[in-house]
Amino acid sequence: MGYKGSAATGLVCLGLVFAAAGAFFRPAARPQAASPLPDTPRGAAAEPWQGPDLASGQTLRLLLPDGQVALVGLEDYVYGVVCAEMPASFAPAALEAQAVAARTYALRRAGSGLHAPAAQVCADPACCQAYTAQDPANWGVMAAVYGPKIQAAVAATAGEVLTQNGALIDAVFHASSSGATAPAQAVWGAEVPYLVSVSTPETVENVPGLQEERVFSAQEVEALLGSADLGEPVYSDWGGVSALPVGDKTLSGQEVRQKLGLRSARFRVSRTGDSFTFTTVGYGHGVGMSQQGANLLAREGAGYREILAHYYPGTTLEKIS
Ligand SMILES: [Zn+2]
Repeated sequence: MGYKGSAATGLVCLGLVFAAAGAFFRPAARPQAASPLPDTPRGAAAEPWQGPDLASGQTLRLLLPDGQVALVGLEDYVYGVVCAEMPASFAPAALEAQAVAARTYALRRAGSGLHAPAAQVCADPACCQAYTAQDPANWGVMAAVYGPKIQAAVAATAGEVLTQNGALIDAVFHASSSGATAPAQAVWGAEVPYLVSVSTPETVENVPGLQEERVFSAQEVEALLGSADLGEPVYSDWGGVSALPVGDKTLSGQEVRQKLGLRSARFRVSRTGDSFTFTTVGYGHGVGMSQQGANLLAREGAGYREILAHYYPGTTLEKIS
């Protein structure tokens, strides 16, 4: 494990009611990922909540990619997730906000019974959260700085989680939006009171690579969408495409994103001759905390509590002890 700095955190859940999950468990998009991550919603509602298996200890049973299950200290696990999910160069308050979101997400996930009985969470970013047991190789000479930096972010928030009405929230996050985040309803079809659209400061000027152009031939569009006869996109208040006429059908922006492998459902489309250019802004499903937005807010002086309150409005920061 990369994280040696944390002593036991005394994890005894203080009557937290882990709400039975709806269809809102989403993997986060990794900012440095080379390709868009799938974000098909978990379909069925989770099993009724049976209580965490953490009450008497401080460990998580983590399903690793090779099928082994490792017993990992909760804070060590959070360290491994922050290493894997957020660039270590980000501001300390953004890393702290990420640590709280990762801890909250993992404990709620553990309570869903998805990987029961053998494990509680897995290390697959397309299912639970990305996790690395070692410092990411791309840290290079910065490893001596970044390791302690992330350890400090985890330690500063040790045991802290976000709740609403006594239940752990579904602390989804994504790499970047622009202008506003997306409401849960736009992506997964049901409203979640703390996953509403909120402002977020990313622009193409302050986040390098926020915009991406993908060019498809008409044949590719026809193969992937069912028709190359595209109408004018209809946009939601938050900036994403809510509907795109495709032939005699209408696809949602999320459907177009998934079928074409676009970075986000916030796109424009133009046609030149036999090719279509899809220009996306942002990366990921767009719901909950924007990691790039959190970094910008942190650089403007916001603390992690402020960042979390902004992206998960109406929630409470609590310490499990
Ligand atoms: Zn999983």
